[in-house]
Amino acid sequence: PPGLYIVAGPIGNLADLSPRAADWLRRADIIACEDTRVSATLLRAAGSDRPMTPYHDHSDERARARLLARMADRAVVLLSDAGTPLISDPGYRLVRGAHEAGITVTTAPGPCAAIAALSIAGLPSDRFLFAGFLPAKRAARTTELRTLATMPATLLFYESGPRLAAMLLDAAATLGARDAAVARELTKRHEELRRGTLGDLATHYADAPEPKGEIVVLIGPPSAAQSATAADLDTALLAALATMP
Ligand code: SAM
Repeated sequence: PPGLYIVAGPIGNLADLSPRAADWLRRADIIACEDTRVSATLLRAAGSDRPMTPYHDHSDERARARLLARMADRAVVLLSDAGTPLISDPGYRLVRGAHEAGITVTTAPGPCAAIAALSIAGLPSDRFLFAGFLPAKRAARTTELRTLATMPATLLFYESGPRLAAMLLDAAATLGARDAAVARELTKRHEELRRGTLGDLATHYADAPEPKGEIVVLIGPPSAAQSATAADLDTALLAALATMP
């Protein structure tokens, strides 16, 4: 039936494509994807010969409107290069537009690197906050980490190999001693999970060769004392700012 189908693909292991996702890839009228070359591999594996069209949230309004118009009488699948669409990937504006146009939106759910990492890290999983990629520049990154410092939840970030060591140093300096984990190349041949305190991990990656591949960083919640201190600091900072001319 016509509508928008949000389909999750693998995060590195083709065998993780669900039969239902594969079925939708074969039955779609159009497959909207980030990079048609990347998705071509997945479509071949799924036995799909359906036409692809590139889509990004920064595609212009007219391109989005055209795609939305086609959903009135066609099944449009949205697929990411890896994992679940919309999770640090395009799709939010398209999904919102579909709802506004009264189009049915449904999903074939599946792999997501953040959730996969959380499920093996051994950190509290009852409450977590996914924060995507931190800013590349140190000052902006530290500001962002400070806003998360009092959050009573495990924090999840996506990170790249070249930035991992600097990110962990900033996190250790800003968030203090906490349990943490680095999950790398999940579901692939060189899958690795390294657990330790933020300080341990920062020291390890400062000395290690630059890690290759794709990475999720997980940071456990603050202790009661840490969140109290951070909250006090915020209050003191706000009070100080209020007195500034
Ligand atoms: N939509 C995807 C998802 O559902 O996980 C995430 C897309 S985001 C553009 C890509 C980032 O996800 C990578 O830079 C890395 O941080 C993380 N990632 C993707 N695949 C991964 C894997 N197999 N192992 C660890 N992290 C992964």
